[in-house]
Amino acid sequence: MRFCVESQHLKKYFHTDSGVVRAVDDVSFGIEPGETVGLVGESGCGKSTVGRTILKLVDPSGGKLFFEGRDIFEIDRSERRALRREMGIVFQNPYSSLNPRMKVLQIVGEPLKTHAKINGARLRRKVLELLAQVGLKPEQLNRFPHQFSGGQRQRIAIARSLALDPKFLIFDEPTSALDVSVQAQVLNLIRKLQRSKNLTYLFITHDLLVVKYIADRILVMYLGKLVEAGPVEAVFEHALHPYTQALLAAIPKADPSIRQKRLLLEGEVPSPINPPSGCRFHSRCPKVVSICREKEPELRRLGQRQVACHLA
Ligand code: SF4
Repeated sequence: MRFCVESQHLKKYFHTDSGVVRAVDDVSFGIEPGETVGLVGESGCGKSTVGRTILKLVDPSGGKLFFEGRDIFEIDRSERRALRREMGIVFQNPYSSLNPRMKVLQIVGEPLKTHAKINGARLRRKVLELLAQVGLKPEQLNRFPHQFSGGQRQRIAIARSLALDPKFLIFDEPTSALDVSVQAQVLNLIRKLQRSKNLTYLFITHDLLVVKYIADRILVMYLGKLVEAGPVEAVFEHALHPYTQALLAAIPKADPSIRQKRLLLEGEVPSPINPPSGCRFHSRCPKVVSICREKEPELRRLGQRQVACHLA
């Protein structure tokens, strides 16, 4: 299977006064065409940096990134500009990601004007089509972002991301700033658009229930590394990595009378400047054994799944 997007040994290090932050440290995965892959982990694990590095919003420190077989870190600027039309991103905060001084027509139409040189009545027509696709009305065309609710603003951001007919979209916590009921509507829209346009998604979130709802496959990151990957149903049914098990156990249960064996995460996430030796999770792992402190576990393939744990 040829991947739509394939990351090979992706690395992103940030050089700071306190040392080198290994935000993304040798991360490899592939996303098949039409697939939704959910990338999860606690805040600071490097998941958003993966998304930004894929789009080259930050320069990679190493590794390769293929989009439909082309290594996008190697291509020249004009090729990259053309390729950027096929990839987009929707950010977490619809309050800050939209220019407050621009009307919807300008916000959604800007990529069409800049990259596709569409202007005038054609631009207006195209923006109206995009607004209809995300459930907004024609009379909202000339309004400013502050005249919309949070959910509507995220719809505007999604319309803008679709303007150039991309094949691949990254969603970076797109619903975490929204109320729960609005979250569900936006997630439904994202799913509907994927089916109708056969889009490929990387969905970055800390919310495992969102991943369960929207994704086909899940990637779990801890301190810059992938620790588990596999089909969503299989991982929710039986997580192999103690970190994934702890994340799943932390999901609030709808029925509080249902008790389950809790595997609680203790302690803070260690600093990515000076990660623990051996398994990076060993300082918080309830199943730690002596080898964990000395040897870093490789991400091993087990059938359709992958896990980085000496005990798996
Ligand atoms: Fe825990 Fe050891 Fe597995 Fe790491 S390798 S997750 S410390 S059991």
